[in-house]
Amino acid sequence: MKIHEYQAKEILEKFDIPIQRGYPLDDKKDINSTIRKVQENFDTEAVIVKAQVHAGGRGKGGGVKYCATYEDAQNAANSILGMNLITHQTDPEGKKVNKILITEALDIKKEYYFAITFDRSKNCDVFIVSDEGGVDIEEVAKNSPEKIIKAWINDSENSLLNGINEIISKLSLEKYQNQIEDIFRKLYRCYYESDCSLLEINPLVITTDDDIIALDAKVNIDSNALFRHPEITSYRDKSEENPLELKASEYGLNYIKLDGNVGCMVNGAGLAMATMDIIKHYGGEPANFLDVGGAANVETIKNGFKIILSDRNVKSILINIFGGIVRCDRVANGVIQAVKELDLDASVVVRLQGTNADLAKKILDDSGINIISAETINEAAKKAVEAV
Ligand code: GDP
Ligand code: MN
Repeated sequence: MKIHEYQAKEILEKFDIPIQRGYPLDDKKDINSTIRKVQENFDTEAVIVKAQVHAGGRGKGGGVKYCATYEDAQNAANSILGMNLITHQTDPEGKKVNKILITEALDIKKEYYFAITFDRSKNCDVFIVSDEGGVDIEEVAKNSPEKIIKAWINDSENSLLNGINEIISKLSLEKYQNQIEDIFRKLYRCYYESDCSLLEINPLVITTDDDIIALDAKVNIDSNALFRHPEITSYRDKSEENPLELKASEYGLNYIKLDGNVGCMVNGAGLAMATMDIIKHYGGEPANFLDVGGAANVETIKNGFKIILSDRNVKSILINIFGGIVRCDRVANGVIQAVKELDLDASVVVRLQGTNADLAKKILDDSGINIISAETINEAAKKAVEAV
């Protein structure tokens, strides 16, 4: 689950990690009082106005403004709150800014990139740090990957300290040994105890007063661990989520929208992945990942269709169901009902195998509805790609 910067900073604060302090707001009526509050409570004239959206690159897109005076801040806040923000991480249409964060402004000596995530290939957590932090980190990763330092953390006793020391030494930050050790330990504890899948601070800054402070924060939480964190669960902002994915989750379907035009309806995540692979193998592009689950019934199939068809790019739909627990004849009836009820514009290729597959085939053949049937996964994928 993604959360906003201001929420991520609330979590960091609980672990006693120094952050660039501020207050969020979502109503233009509160702009003036919030600026005053930031100026007074944090003893600063200059403030930063920051769009709160689930996408990075806000600075470059005009969603982060340095404001030297109260009037500058008023203007920036009024223009950013409600604006449509386009960054390299949003859809091309951009994202509406429903919330902003007004913070103290800090005097920065140096910006660092800092992240902790899980490295699946090494089966342990990894610190990723660079002294070329800030708004161009993607460029650094692409053009000078040697400037990105990694330290892997395993369960052994001194692993964390060794990792921290390795980073300090590679960046020649011995002068800040105690501060960095303290903050990195806290960041790791925060990552671990909050079940983060990613904790990214870009930039982590050293100020002209030699304080080390998290200026930005991007925290993703492992959704499977949310039951352990009711307070983090309440941070969910549905207005930031893809409307189709949101609708699918309300139907209990596992749906991820992709950019292609072959819609997929499959039971089981593994089979869904294999189906997407084979569509690509035949030169097509999957429009989505959709796992209807082990207990697909008429209702799930219908809802699955509705979700897939809400994506206007979809030109054909491949239904690939293996009848294990779910019986193919039930799926067939679901497909027939859905095709009859929903005004289908896309071709539908159906491959049903497993329990009651023969019966399912007969039901589909007798139904008179316009579908293309297939027996093997190869044949099905080929036909779905051709139908596009
Ligand atoms: P992002 O563009 O979405 O990653 O937003 P950030 O919160 O990281 O801000 C973008 C950039 O704005 C930072 O990398 C800084 O260079 C700059 N910035 C943000 N806050 C401050 C501040 O308090 N003082 C100064 N001097 N620059 C800031
Ligand atoms: Mn940033």
